[in-house]
Amino acid sequence: MVTRNAAEARKRECRGISVQTDSLTGLYWWRPAELLRSGGDAKTSKGESLGWTTYILYLAPSDLSGRQVCAMASKGCRFACLFTAGRGGMATTQLLRLNKTFYLYEDRDGFLAQLESELDALNLQARRGKRIAIRLNGTSDLPWHLWLDMGRWESLVFYDYTKFANRLGHDLAPNYSLTFSRSESNEAQALDVLRSGGNVAVVFGDELPATWHGFPLVQGDAHDLRFLDPKGGHVVGLTAKGSAKGDASGFVVMGDVGQAWARESERAGRSLPVLATAPVAGGRAA
Ligand code: SF4
Repeated sequence: MVTRNAAEARKRECRGISVQTDSLTGLYWWRPAELLRSGGDAKTSKGESLGWTTYILYLAPSDLSGRQVCAMASKGCRFACLFTAGRGGMATTQLLRLNKTFYLYEDRDGFLAQLESELDALNLQARRGKRIAIRLNGTSDLPWHLWLDMGRWESLVFYDYTKFANRLGHDLAPNYSLTFSRSESNEAQALDVLRSGGNVAVVFGDELPATWHGFPLVQGDAHDLRFLDPKGGHVVGLTAKGSAKGDASGFVVMGDVGQAWARESERAGRSLPVLATAPVAGGRAA
């Protein structure tokens, strides 16, 4: 346990920003000006065209920060994770996500207070008529419903993907919806979720089929507003992006062409992506 004095001793000033040392990795972190961001990726832009602004919280996925934020991550999803797709592949973006993860684990009360304050401000905008969606697990799979009373921000709509099937049966706030996320290691659970009326996101390597295991498909790439999907056991079909295009684990469901590519990838010995290395505010390289 870190004492107050020890924590104070670890604080530094860096160009007017108070930076602190992460107790696990030794890297510096600071309180970012904002936790939730909107825009900057193709999917949320598609939501804009439907009249919704989406704010997303991005952390460093899986155990890349030294802390596990996706306890049910599979080898395949970790490889394919959006952390390496689009802007997530940029070193600066990765470092900002690491920074937020250090903040959450080093000062959870401060992090949650800042998050609540940002949600308060967005809720005010939503009360005035702006349609705002919030995705807290942009690149994580954390139990935000246990830490935040989402019903308190009644004018916002929260949604997430999760690999925890039991969360779908949890007593969630009416403005929070979850879509189960299939991987190569939880297909039986995914089918159970579909049979019990939940929706399941599945990543496909080439063209989307009309059905998957007999369940109807909806086009998941048209937008990311999962709470608009039809309810009652639908498969949300997504196409592989970023590192997922080279998946050989079974995380990406392949047709004939994709399976040949996956076999080729496996022969070529593809490995898990590693973090780009760059110094953080004078700290050690990531
Ligand atoms: S795909 Fe989801 S569960 Fe897997 S590593 Fe990324 S954020 Fe975590």
